[in-house]
Amino acid sequence: MIPFSPPRIDDEIIAEVVAAMKSGWITTGPRTKNFERMLTAFNGNQSTLCVNSATAGLELVLRWFGVGPGDEVIVPAYTYCATANVVLHCGATPVMVDVLPDTFNIDPDKIAEKISACTKAIIPVDIAGFPADYDAINQLVNNEELRRKFTPRNPNQRKLGRILVLSDAAHSLGAIYNGKSTGSLCDITVFSFHAVKNLTTAEGGAIAFNLPESFDNEEVYKFCNIFGLHGQSKDALAKLSGKASWKYDVIMPGYKVNMTDMQAAMGIVELRRYREDTLQKRKAIFEYYQTAFAKYDWAISPTCRDKKSESSYHVYLLRIKNISEEIRDNMIIDIFGSEVSVNVHFQPLPLLSAYKYLGYRMQDFPVAYANYANEISLPVFYDLTEEMCQQVVEAVVHAYNQIK
Ligand SMILES: *Cc1c(COP(=O)(O)O)cnc(C)c1O
Repeated sequence: MIPFSPPRIDDEIIAEVVAAMKSGWITTGPRTKNFERMLTAFNGNQSTLCVNSATAGLELVLRWFGVGPGDEVIVPAYTYCATANVVLHCGATPVMVDVLPDTFNIDPDKIAEKISACTKAIIPVDIAGFPADYDAINQLVNNEELRRKFTPRNPNQRKLGRILVLSDAAHSLGAIYNGKSTGSLCDITVFSFHAVKNLTTAEGGAIAFNLPESFDNEEVYKFCNIFGLHGQSKDALAKLSGKASWKYDVIMPGYKVNMTDMQAAMGIVELRRYREDTLQKRKAIFEYYQTAFAKYDWAISPTCRDKKSESSYHVYLLRIKNISEEIRDNMIIDIFGSEVSVNVHFQPLPLLSAYKYLGYRMQDFPVAYANYANEISLPVFYDLTEEMCQQVVEAVVHAYNQIK
């Protein structure tokens, strides 16, 4: 059976995790701080805080910005549930926007009509690793009329003076837009290092700060570091560093979302070889699929490059022309019958019980539904060989011939 996306665990990763364990420092410490500096250099943003998941990172940022009951946050209807769940955790309301047919990303032309005086943030998602349209989104939040409509309720909101752009880049580490890396394309970007993502630390995430000049990004980093560690004025490492430095204060009831040095050990090894090795390998797999499916007029290959953007090649979103959701589901059964694991990314939020119950309706997001109904995600992972790619393509073609 060809798996969908097993992590790449090799001797180099294992050796570095073992070294972290033998060092005697297994929780947040020197390796995490080193990984943060490496991420900042890689992404070209101002400062980076590692956390235990993207979900925790997104929520920490919303709470730092003071998003709460009565507020609205714009999210795409087509994403993983985490993007909207965190808005609900804060007591605010996710306001969904339909997506673009080609890229699966939030449709910038449909955002403005959903903005109200209660809108505090927009969370674009770089679906499958292809960057959302940050030029359009950044321009929108800076629009004079919308800035006047923005109603700040706390010092951070007053300092920004507009809607916050918080990117959910769970898929897109290393993707390029206008010659820049994700992480430096908007105010704040959150990455995921979950086991199925391009770069993994088993569980983990990072918050990349890139706020405009009215903020000191280093100060925001320091605040969020404490906010994500019980509000403790000193972390465990700082407490060790001097004699009689046991005493600390708790300056706010903070959260507990820090990354461990064992996770960072994995991340450091992976980030070192990410651009030159991991991304090249994933790109080659995408290109194999693109070339193979170009022969079939029923196959729609995903956009992974255009004038402005290049994907991080996270998931291969194949679509099949003119088929219903039910036929797609049957194709997936047939593909599994050929010993190939596939997936669907994603069930749009309004299809999920939790969101249906809140009153979101699938018919209000026709593009999200259409993109979901005929979509099949193909395996992409480091150790996928060319023979395996061929087996994947043959399995899909076999399934299509069965349903014809
Ligand atoms: C995986 C994922 C997340 C959540 O990441 P975690 O690190 O597991 O919290 C958020 N958004 C999207 C789009 C994802 O695919």
